[in-house]
Amino acid sequence: MSTLRFHAIKETLTRTPLKIEEKERRSAIFGNNVFNEATMRQYLTKEAYNSVMDAVEKGSKIERPVADHISTGMKEWAISKGVTHYTHWFQPLTGATAEKHDAFFETIGNGLAIEKFGGGQLVQQEPDASSFPNGGIRNTFEARGYTAWDPTSPAFIYETTLCIPTVFVAYTGEALDYKTPLLRALQAVDNAAVAVAKYFDKNVKKVNASLGWEQEYFLVDSALVAARPDITLTGRTLLGHSPAKGQQLDDHYFGTIPNRAMSFMRDLEKECMLLGIPVKTRHNEVAPNQFELAPIYDEANLAVDHNSLLMDVMDKIAGRHNFKVLFHEKPFAGVNGSGKHNNWSLSTDTGINLLGPGKTPMSNLQFLTFFINTIKAVHEYEGLLRASIASASNDHRLGANEAPPAIISVFIGDQLTKVLNDLESVTKGKLSPEEKTDLKLNVVGKIPEILLDNTDRNRTSPFAFTGNKFEFRAVGSTANCANPMTVLNSIMAKQLIDFKAEVDALIENKDMKKDDAIFNVLREYIKTSKNILFEGNGYSDEWQIEAKKRGLSNNKTTPEALKARMTKKNISLFEELGVMNKVEIEARYEIEVEEYALRIQIEGRVLGDIARNHVVPTAVRYQNRLIENVRGLKDIYGKDFKKYAKEQMVLIQEISGHIEAINSGVTKMTNERKKANTIEDSEKRAETYCHKVKPLFDVIRYSCDKLELLIDDELWPLTKYRELLFTK
Ligand code: ADP
Ligand code: MG
Repeated sequence: MSTLRFHAIKETLTRTPLKIEEKERRSAIFGNNVFNEATMRQYLTKEAYNSVMDAVEKGSKIERPVADHISTGMKEWAISKGVTHYTHWFQPLTGATAEKHDAFFETIGNGLAIEKFGGGQLVQQEPDASSFPNGGIRNTFEARGYTAWDPTSPAFIYETTLCIPTVFVAYTGEALDYKTPLLRALQAVDNAAVAVAKYFDKNVKKVNASLGWEQEYFLVDSALVAARPDITLTGRTLLGHSPAKGQQLDDHYFGTIPNRAMSFMRDLEKECMLLGIPVKTRHNEVAPNQFELAPIYDEANLAVDHNSLLMDVMDKIAGRHNFKVLFHEKPFAGVNGSGKHNNWSLSTDTGINLLGPGKTPMSNLQFLTFFINTIKAVHEYEGLLRASIASASNDHRLGANEAPPAIISVFIGDQLTKVLNDLESVTKGKLSPEEKTDLKLNVVGKIPEILLDNTDRNRTSPFAFTGNKFEFRAVGSTANCANPMTVLNSIMAKQLIDFKAEVDALIENKDMKKDDAIFNVLREYIKTSKNILFEGNGYSDEWQIEAKKRGLSNNKTTPEALKARMTKKNISLFEELGVMNKVEIEARYEIEVEEYALRIQIEGRVLGDIARNHVVPTAVRYQNRLIENVRGLKDIYGKDFKKYAKEQMVLIQEISGHIEAINSGVTKMTNERKKANTIEDSEKRAETYCHKVKPLFDVIRYSCDKLELLIDDELWPLTKYRELLFTK
């Protein structure tokens, strides 16, 4: 065995789980490192506290003198917990989180120093941000962007630093991050949903979008990863033969969590508790060494922040346990990839889940209204939703055999399908009193009961209704949820605005009763958006054909999918709602297209390096051994040697064949990359990387994987799938 691989495995086998002590109850430590309501009451004046709460609940502005009070309170709290630094914490368009730490410490002359943190520093910071992607919004020579406090997501302490969640915008006002458009989209859906919810309850003043994400990931021993340049640099294996045993037996799913993984999870959960991330569920996933973690759902902006924070924290805690956590959507070929289901709903400040059926026919009509509007929104903007989850890494998952297809469709289950069919056949125009009674009693009135037994769940659907929420399953495990959440809430906002206008028009112009008008509009919606509903097997080939007939898009690659961002209809959607202007949309498109090409470029380079500098030399070494063996046999047996050396000679020839294929493949790929790099237009460059460069990966990989099977295990330099996936 190659020395590196040998040591990696040896190291892995000697690991023992860290002992994680949990002396206090989790509820007692929950939110201890968060500047939450309880802490604010303790550290802020009444005026400052009210000011923050007003900003959170009503979006009102915090005046500067008040900000000074808040920052002082925050600083006192942080220092009492051993904090020395503060940072504005934000999510630039890399999708990761960014921070720049400054010490509270300041000198005041005469060799004296104090801890200082003013309102100005809380509210705004100007990181030297010239190296963040900006898609041309900000010329680098005037690299001015600033971060501004988002009081709707509370400050928290992580590793002796006070982190203040912020938005990141250019001086010209354009958003340079994921949070800003999300906040705008949440505002838009709040306004639109309140207006519609008022048909049913005049007291509704605010509607919050909720998000409950489920994070899937792999845990691999860090020593084994260190012997894999591909995982280290790209987050996934670019080659590797599938092991004799994969996930065929389904013996990992929901199985006993291995000791070391469990110790990691407990450590992680403890940290999450301190940070106020309400993690609740943990289990083994389908693939070996694959796991899932899910919190209790939260208001969408906070949930998005929590997920970004969680991914950082996971990475750090994994290190403590000698694990590398892999968030990539498809780290290993041949076993399941990872997703991040986004459970989404809308709920009112009066405590009603608008996507949960109620107890009375009227509350059920409200449920149906929001339910059908969601379906219509998804139908209208399926391309944009697909674009919101597009990435080089998620391409490996969508449309592969075990993940939702690249076609967006909505699954609602048999029972609700029947309800929609019934609703579709109601009379156009005013309903007769009998018909109305029948509807209320037999269709709308029965919803809660039918939903209770509605247990059929279609795992192949990218967007499924699951009882009291929709579950957007096509989101990738590396994604920043802000992107899909911005789109989903925007399209819902737009849809609800249109709905309200149509209903009001029927009430005013056609002199209809409110219920009649709502039934009428919903009936039309069911008719026009039926094509997005699909209950069958999303993985099947038939669905691809059927979806095409229905006019649904099926964008299998990121460059194709992203184009939806730039259609006239989709640009005006964001503009109308004030979520993004054209410059912001174009910038994001540019960044994502560029990032796609860069990712494939990096993968191409790494694969070329591994194939030529690791695999081929190993193959040559082994081939030399075989040649030596053949020579030896010749020495012994003279001209009869072939009788004994036949198989070795076949091997020698096979190895030469694969070496040839690898070498010519790498040369071809390098040439295609060179050509791609000369293309000015980033869209065309991404397409070239997608259709000319990437397909050559398979050619190269095929021969590398064959060699892995042929070559002496002792010589093979890279840790193998069985080691990566089955070492616990
Ligand atoms: P699963 O989909 O894994 O079978 P559940 O359907 O019980 O599990 O819940 C999945 C996730 O949905 C949980 O993480 C939960 O927090 C979230 N969830 C439940 N209700 C809502 C809601 N109203 N809004 C958003 N997320 C929700
Ligand atoms: Mg789920």
